[in-house]
Amino acid sequence: MNEAWFLSAALPIGATIGSYASTVALRAGRGEQATLGRSRCDGCGRGLGFLQTIPVLSFLLRRGACETCAAPIARIHLIGEVLGGAAVALAFLVATPWRAGLLSVLGLALLSSALIDARTRRLPDLLTVLIAAAGATLAWTRAPTDLALGVVAAIAAFGLLQFVRLAFRALRGHDGMGFGDVKLIVALCLWLGPAMAWAIVIAGLVGLAAIAVIRPRDRRAPFGPAIALGAWSVGLLLEAGVWPA
Ligand SMILES: [Zn+2]
Repeated sequence: MNEAWFLSAALPIGATIGSYASTVALRAGRGEQATLGRSRCDGCGRGLGFLQTIPVLSFLLRRGACETCAAPIARIHLIGEVLGGAAVALAFLVATPWRAGLLSVLGLALLSSALIDARTRRLPDLLTVLIAAAGATLAWTRAPTDLALGVVAAIAAFGLLQFVRLAFRALRGHDGMGFGDVKLIVALCLWLGPAMAWAIVIAGLVGLAAIAVIRPRDRRAPFGPAIALGAWSVGLLLEAGVWPA
């Protein structure tokens, strides 16, 4: 009963944060001031009132188009809202309320990073720091030895990834992986410890699949969303006690 109450309060918050993150990602991708300013239509710039910004519902009621200019509402808004709500729901499904709250913060920060990376190919340091802090707290409260393992995994991952980047630069002339990706992986190691290796395997497969499906012109794709998906999958199993830790 308690869980149901927490979830009903947290679900709209998750969807709203997902909505905000998608707006920030869109604006940053266009090189605009991203984090402030009221909600407005991406087409005609008309300011949006409360009724036009209810997550998911507004998109469906307006059939995915602006009431004033009929410009289609960018899909990223709906994606951010649905995934924001889903992240919170999954967190409350696998963990006790206070732990689920912390897990929600981590999940929403991951989602925001993924959306912003998809649009700008940059992972904001502020979100990576938030992910590191939430992940470290989750590991510490699971067992202090888990956080110790996480720190070891983080140091090992940083060394390994920097070596791979150097090798890539020497052989191929580019880094292969951005430094933002390295920082995100290191941050997630604090939460997942050695299991982060599996998250990277999943991320690699997701990344390859995405390149095969989307076929970007430069044959490169932002890696952040794949890292986020891999870590979130493994992390949920770990928090649910299903992962053989
Ligand atoms: Zn409009």
